[in-house]
Amino acid sequence: MTEHLVEEGMREWASPLYSEALSQFNRVAELIELDPNIAARMRVPQRAIIVTIPYRRDDGTEVKSLFGYRVQHVLTMGPTKGGIRYAPDVNLGEVAALAMLMTWKCAIVGLPFGGAKGGVRVDPTTLSRAETQRVTRRYTAEIVDFIGPTKDIPAPDMGTDEQVMAWIMDTYSQQVGHTEPAVVTGKPPALGGSVARREATGRGLVSLVPAAAAQRGLSTDGIRVAVQGFGNVGRYASLAAAQAGAKVVAISDISGGFYNGKGIDVMAAIDHMDRHRSLDGFAGGDRISNADLIGADCDILMPCATGGVITGANAGEVKAKIVMEGANGPTTLEADGILNAKGVLVVPDVLANAGGVTVSYFEWVQDVQKYLWTESEIVGRLREIMSRAYEDVQSLATKHKTDLRTAALIRGIKRVAEAKLARGVYP
Ligand code: NAD
Repeated sequence: MTEHLVEEGMREWASPLYSEALSQFNRVAELIELDPNIAARMRVPQRAIIVTIPYRRDDGTEVKSLFGYRVQHVLTMGPTKGGIRYAPDVNLGEVAALAMLMTWKCAIVGLPFGGAKGGVRVDPTTLSRAETQRVTRRYTAEIVDFIGPTKDIPAPDMGTDEQVMAWIMDTYSQQVGHTEPAVVTGKPPALGGSVARREATGRGLVSLVPAAAAQRGLSTDGIRVAVQGFGNVGRYASLAAAQAGAKVVAISDISGGFYNGKGIDVMAAIDHMDRHRSLDGFAGGDRISNADLIGADCDILMPCATGGVITGANAGEVKAKIVMEGANGPTTLEADGILNAKGVLVVPDVLANAGGVTVSYFEWVQDVQKYLWTESEIVGRLREIMSRAYEDVQSLATKHKTDLRTAALIRGIKRVAEAKLARGVYP
C-alpha cells in the first residue's frame, strides 16, 4: 500500500486546489469501487521537480531567483502533457492538482497522454520581454532531462504564450543538438505550431454550447453569455460565441468587467485589448466588477480566467442556467454542490476546456509525423472529439444518475485505472 505517501504527500502538496482535486478523486474512487492499490497510486504525482531559476534583471547588476516546478502525475498512458503557468501564486500543490486534472482531461477525450503541469512563481507583468526570455530559457535548461516529445510536452497556460513556447523549443533544441518542434505545443505556426491552437480552447468550449443548451431546453440563437477573463481562453470563447449567434452580454479581465444587455462588440473589445493590453477604458458596456460578473443576468456563465472564483459565498447569486468552465478549477466543491442543487448545469473543466489539449495533441502528431493539416481539418476533428466526449459523459451521467463532473471523472479515472492494471507493477 502506498497510503502513507498520500498522507506524507499532503505535506508536500498541501494547497486548496490539491485538497479539492483529491476530494473529487476520493468521491469518485469510492463510487466506482476503485482498486485501493490503484487509487493510492493515483492520489499523488509520479514525479515532481522543483528548480530555482536565477536571472539577471535588465539593469545588468541585480540577479534574482525564482521557484519553478514541473509535475508529472501519470506516466502510464504515454508522454505527459500540460501547460506552464507564470503567476505570482504558483506553488507545488497547485501545480500538482492541475497535473492531476490534466490526467483525467486527457483520458476523458481519449488522448494518449498522462497529465503534467508546470509553473514559475513570478508576476509576468513585472518582467520585461528580455527578462521573460532569460527566465524561460533557464527554467527549460533546469528541466531539460524531464521533457521531450516522448517524455513530457509543455504548452501555454496563464501568463505564457506562443513566444514563451518558442523560447522553450529553441532552448531544448540547442541542448539536445537538433531542432525539435514536438517538445512543446502552442508554438507559433512558423515553428510547426498548429494553425488552430490559439483559438482551440475557446472554440472547443463554445462547440459544446448546443449540447448543453439542449439539455436545459434553451435555444442557442441569441443565447446570452457572460465570459470572465479575456486572455487566450476568454477572448476566443467570446469570439466563437458571438460568431455562433450568441449574445455576449458581459466580459472582464483582471481590471474588471463590462455588461451590455444588447451584446458586446467582441471584435471592438479584442481591438481594445490588443492596443492597451487591458480591457480598462473599453467603452462598449457598463462597468461591472468581476464579482458582479459571476451573478450577471445571462443564460451561460463561462469562467475563463482563474481558479476558485465561484465559491460557497457567491454560488447562490449565479443567475445563469449553465456554467461552462473554461478555466481550470473555477468552481469550489462547495459551490458545485450549491449550483447542482439550484439545477444549474455545470459543464466541468476536464471536459469543457479539453479543446486546448486536443489541438495540442494534433500539433504534436503533426510535428512528429511531419503532417501539414489545414485549419478546417483541425477544427472539424476538434468538434468531433469534443462532441463525442460530451455525449459519452452525458450518457454516463444518465446511467449513474449523477452530474456531468462526476460522470466525466468516472470516465477519466476508469480509463487510467484500466491502463495501470494492464501494465502491472514494475519490477
Ligand atoms: P491568460 O493569461 O491568457 O488569460 C487570463 C485572463 O484572466 C486575463 O484576461 C486576465 O486579466 C484574467 N484574470 C486573471 N486573474 C483574474 C481574476 N482574478 N479575475 C478576473 N480575471 C482575471 O490565461 P489563459 O491561457 O486564457 O487561461 C485561463 C484559464 O484557462 C486558466 O485557468 C488555465 O489553466 C485555463 N486553461 C487554459 C488553456 C489554454 O489553452 N490556454 C487550456 C485549458 C485551460
